[in-house]
Amino acid sequence: MHCPLNQPLILPFCEEKKKSAGTKVDLLQKCGVTLKDIAIGLEVTSVPLCFLLRKKHQTRDQLQQLVSDTIDEVLDTPLRSEFIPSTVVSALASMACHGSVRFGRKMSRDSCLQLIRLLSAQKLPFQCAHGRPSLVPLIKIPTIAKFLLSKPVKNLVARKKKFNA
Ligand SMILES: [Zn+2]
Repeated sequence: MHCPLNQPLILPFCEEKKKSAGTKVDLLQKCGVTLKDIAIGLEVTSVPLCFLLRKKHQTRDQLQQLVSDTIDEVLDTPLRSEFIPSTVVSALASMACHGSVRFGRKMSRDSCLQLIRLLSAQKLPFQCAHGRPSLVPLIKIPTIAKFLLSKPVKNLVARKKKFNA
């Protein structure tokens, strides 16, 4: 998802780079970057929304660098429709982790059960978007599974076995 900028960014790209960017306008737009060729470089009129939500106190120079890095990565990558720049993946991973439930946070029983249900529906419930462990075993899951034979717990046990295999 892209977000229009109130004040466009001006990237001082050389003619060769502008020409190269011109061949990947559609892919850049799909990644959330909308740009226009102007005399002194490229004018960026929208950026991925995750770039703006990622850091509240991000300076304009930092945002400009992030967008420039994104364009460079897109230009350096062979055309593939499913391509997502690492800058976007990193911003999304950061947002996902910062919004997560933290260890030690008090939760109601219903919220805990809901969290287990949601985790059991994931392909990799034991790691965050960065690949870091997201769960800490306080009790062996097979032990607790004997007492809680609900489907979400069975799914977690199966995924844990598959994940460790
Ligand atoms: Zn993470």
